[in-house]
Parts: sequence; C-alpha cells; structure tokens
Amino acid sequence: MMYQEIEQAERDLLHTYNRFPVVFDHGEGVHLYDTEGKEYLDFCAGIAVFALGYGVKEYNDALKDQVDKLIHTSNYFYNEPAIRAAALVKKYTGMDRVFFTNSGGESVEGAIKAARKYAYTRDGHTDHEIIAMEHSFHGRTMGALSVTGNVHYREPFEPLIGNIKFAEYNDLDSVKAQVTEKTCAIIMETVQGEGGIFPAAPEFIQGLRKLCDEKDILLILDEIQCGMGRTGTMYAYEQYGIKPDILATAKALGCGVPVGAFAMTERVAEKSLTAGDHGSTYGGNPLACRAVCSVFELMEQKQVLENVNRVGSYLEQKLSELVKEYAFVSGQRGLGLMRGLVFECPVSGILQKTLQKGLVLINAGTNVLRFVPPLVISEKDVDDMMVILRSALDEWSGEQG
Ligand SMILES: *Cc1c(COP(=O)(O)O)cnc(C)c1O
Repeated sequence: MMYQEIEQAERDLLHTYNRFPVVFDHGEGVHLYDTEGKEYLDFCAGIAVFALGYGVKEYNDALKDQVDKLIHTSNYFYNEPAIRAAALVKKYTGMDRVFFTNSGGESVEGAIKAARKYAYTRDGHTDHEIIAMEHSFHGRTMGALSVTGNVHYREPFEPLIGNIKFAEYNDLDSVKAQVTEKTCAIIMETVQGEGGIFPAAPEFIQGLRKLCDEKDILLILDEIQCGMGRTGTMYAYEQYGIKPDILATAKALGCGVPVGAFAMTERVAEKSLTAGDHGSTYGGNPLACRAVCSVFELMEQKQVLENVNRVGSYLEQKLSELVKEYAFVSGQRGLGLMRGLVFECPVSGILQKTLQKGLVLINAGTNVLRFVPPLVISEKDVDDMMVILRSALDEWSGEQG
C-alpha cells in the first residue's frame, strides 16, 4: 500500500525533494505512525514546527472551534483571533508592530521590504545595500533566496534582488568590511539552522548591534527556526542582551498551521511600510491566528521553556557522550532543543538507518545530524532516541569497512 502511494506521489509531484520512503498517517505525543502502523520517535517535529507534540487536545479543539466559526475574512476587515495574536506576538518578540504572513520565506520578504522602505524614507535613495551571512538560510522565494548564503541555491535563479553583500558569520571584521554609506540592514539567523546549527557568538551579535546603532543600520534577526522557545527563551536573542530592529518568525508559531510574521520596533515602523506598501490575502486569517494564540497559551500553561532548558542540557550531555565514543563524530553544538551532532563524513547513510529503526531525524548541511524535537520531550524520550541512534551508528560503521 505504502509503495503504491509513493509511486503515485512521484508521478504527480514536482521532484523538488528526495523524500524518505515513508507515508505518515497520524501522530500522538512525540510519536508518528506510518500508514502501516509502524511507530517512529520524532526528533524532527516537521522541521522545528510541531513544538507542542501531536494530538494536543486544547490546540485541536481551538482549531475545530475556529473552523466552525470563521476561517477567512481578508485584511479589509478586522478579526478577533488576529487582534489577540498580534498582542501576543508583540509581548513575546519584544517588538511593537506585527505583520502576519503564511510562511517563513514571506516573513523574510516582508523584513527586507520594511528595511528598504525605512532607508528610502530616511534619505530618499533607492540603492541601499543589505549585508547577509555566508551559510545562512532564509527561504526559497526570490528575496529570501537573495540573502541566503549558499551559492548552489542562488545561482540558477539569478539575477536575484541586487545590492546584497555576504560576510562571514561570527566574524565582526568581515561584516565591517562590507559596510558602506548605502548599507540599510544586516540580516542573520540568531542560531544558523540549515547551515549546520551555529549559535551566534555573543561578542559578534553585540558588536553588530553597536555597529548598527552607530550607523543607523537595521538589524534583522531571522528567528524562524530558533524562535518560539526552541533555544530555552521564547526568542534566542534574549540570551544575548540585545534587541533586533526587525524580527522574522514562523515555523513553530502556528505549530503546523501555515503562519509566520515579521515584527519591528516603533522607531522602524514610523518610517517603514504604510497603507498600500504590503499585503497578503491569507496573512493573519482567523484560523491561522487562532493557532498562534493557542500555541502561546499552551507554551505558558505547559511550562515549555523550563522543559527546553532541562531536557536541552540533558540532550547536550548525551550527545557529548557520542563525541567521545565514536571516532567519526567530531563535535556537537547548539542551544536548548536545537542541536547538531557533527560528523567527519556525510550523514545521509545514517539517516536511512535511524529511520528504518523508527527514529525521525534530519540533517543540517551534509555532515551534521539535526535534533529539533517537539519542545515537550522528556529525558526518557532522549534515552529512547539514544538507544536507536547508537544502534544505527554501530550498524552503519560496521558496514563502512
Ligand atoms: C525554514 C526557514 C525559513 C523559510 O521558511 P519557509 O516557511 O520554509 O518559507 C527561513 N529562515 C529560516 C532560518 C528557516 O529555518
């Protein structure tokens, strides 16, 4: 049955992914089940999306209630879930004004437009530059792709948006070397995700903040993957004692309902997007925003941040053991429940093994196993994961000869 479904999908869908040969059917807690009933422990969470775990009654009930009430209205009118969700996004991001989108990529698009408009209002020029980071990932739409630091993702689609310069992540001097009088913004992930799980060095991000303040450059933080509690604070920047001017969020914001947002300080908003500058048909619709409200409420109720801090350091400790045990595992890094285990070799073969053994994991770059589980996992789930991972590593290394 499963193979027939996969064959059909491969005939019908555009082949933009090399998918794992599994059809997932339903989820419960931190487990997924395929159409044959096989159980998988999920340390991927739909790429850092399903933070609360599967089958959470309060969340499901909120969505069902909203489906029966009102799914969509358009942004020509107000709706109650969006009003509540905007207040919550403001509270937790520390920003002053919010625009709802449908994805991470769109949140980055909006952040770029907001920064350019701010600079345009300030000095009337249209030739502003943005500095982005090597090894960054900001999404697949044309604007987000333009600031993504991976030449293989960008090249086939050039020309992209102009006046983008790339600097080395965690190297303040390399950013300073790219600053000109035309620079309007610096965009970076507080913790690089796809690029291999690299947290920002405190002196780097603090140095950027100072540089931006001195030159009236806007600091855009992409917390699409590392935000929403993943690193142990609601947004990762809180751990660095700085604040961005514009923040992009998505992924776990709706825990699976497609929704994102970009938000900014009042100082930026005053000179940035106004009526007619930006819009979205779906963005901020009642269903998506009801999900946002429910996610923030449940994160408080379930004391998710405490869990991330406790289980995150347990996971760190356990992954460190593997660095000592296996010669081909060279290190581990990350924050909270966003961690990478670094290998001397590509990890694709290991991912096949873990999946066969009932553990869902993904990579971050070629050599890094990425751990972005639901934020509600327990130490016991980490122990269960470790048993499967060790068995996969042993079997895989045995086959390498
Ligand atoms: C996933 C991701 C994006 C893109 O989000 P989409 O919803 O896939 O468009 C952008 N930035 C970061 C850091 C991400 O992890």
